[in-house]
This record gives sequence, structure tokens and C-alpha cells, in this order.
Amino acid sequence: MSSEICLQSAFQKAGRDFGYSSVKAEFTPFKEFKVRWQRSAGWAEFQVSDYLMDADEMMMEGLARVLFNRISKGKRSNYPDELREWMTSQDFVRKKQPVYLRRSRNLSRSGQGRHYDLQDSYERLIAAGLVERDDEAFLSWTSRPNLRRVGYCSVLMKVIAVSSALDDEVVPEFVTEYVLYHELLHLANGLSLDGQAHGEDFRRCERLHPRWNEAEEWLKRLSLKL
Ligand SMILES: [Zn+2]
Repeated sequence: MSSEICLQSAFQKAGRDFGYSSVKAEFTPFKEFKVRWQRSAGWAEFQVSDYLMDADEMMMEGLARVLFNRISKGKRSNYPDELREWMTSQDFVRKKQPVYLRRSRNLSRSGQGRHYDLQDSYERLIAAGLVERDDEAFLSWTSRPNLRRVGYCSVLMKVIAVSSALDDEVVPEFVTEYVLYHELLHLANGLSLDGQAHGEDFRRCERLHPRWNEAEEWLKRLSLKL
């Protein structure tokens, strides 16, 4: 069965159990992983991230049930274990990360900047025992400088971007290192659906960086330049 037909039949099957007689589902090449839907009485249409193109029918049906539970009963639940396991596997990242990078228009796709190399910062953080090495992590500068958002992490794709606004000789390298550290903490925390990305534990870890205070001050000063 083609994956598109497989998706369609999995969603129709799950939909019937929730009283939806007309269900359509198709893969869509969103940059970020997501599912969009529209629905009215007995009718629903889904656009599912094509990163799930090679998920098996069981996983798709499991996903469909989670979504129907949410749209018809307002119940939020985690993705099925099997799907989560696959989406956090090395195999998934190795296959999907290159696609994600191609779709990321604002990345230089290199950690080597004009002044600083993100890989150097990464090695220093590892040597200091602040983070563990993750061979799948891809570090890149952004193409355009952004001071509103100095760092970004796709936990699913293991891609970390640091704003090229920091790749500047007037900004000390520990600021880049600190921003990278912040994003690596997100990566280490993994996928979690229970919100609170910057909870107390996160802040405590963040402050283990020996220069967190100075770095925060630098970032504040830079953002005032806007
Ligand atoms: Zn963050």
C-alpha cells in the first residue's frame, strides 16, 4: 500500500469509531513537524507532516485516535509509545534531519561563522562537563542576524541554530557559548508535551554555566539595540 493510502485508511478507520463518516488525510511538506485539521459534524480533513511518510499503519492509526480524541472530546494525550519511540530514534533523525535542513531557509547550515565556530563552543561545553556529546546534533548559524530570537532548537530534528548577530567580534564568545548551552539543554531534555520549557529545573541547569550572569547581561544589552 502506498503511504498516502495507508494514511487515509488509518484515519478513516479511527474516524469511524468517533462518528466521523467522511475523513480525508494527506501528507504535507511542512517545515516543522505538525498536523493541521478542519472539521465539522461528521466530517474531518487532516494535513499530516510528511516526516511521518514512512510510519507504519499501526502508528498512523494510533496518531489518528489521539487526534480524534482531542478534536471530539477535548482530551489531550501523548502520542502512542510506538510512534514516539520511532520519532526519537537515530534512524528517524538521520533520515529526516537533511530534509528539515533543506527546508530551513534561514540557516547557513554550518557551525563555522565569520568569527566563531559553534563546534568549538560545543567542545568546550562538553569538556567542562556541562553537556554530553550527541553525535546527531547539527549546529548552525542563522543566515540573517536576529536579536529577538538568539537561539533555536528543534528537539525532534536535533538542529540548533544560533543567531548570526552573535557572530561578531564585539560580542564575546562566551555569549555564543551560553546561548548554545541553553539550546543544548532543550535537546538533552528531549520531547515533552507537558509545556514548561523553561521551568525551575531548566533555570537551575542554565545557571551552572560559569558566565550565565554576564552572558544574560550581554543579551539584554544587545536586545536594547533594537
Ligand atoms: Zn529556550
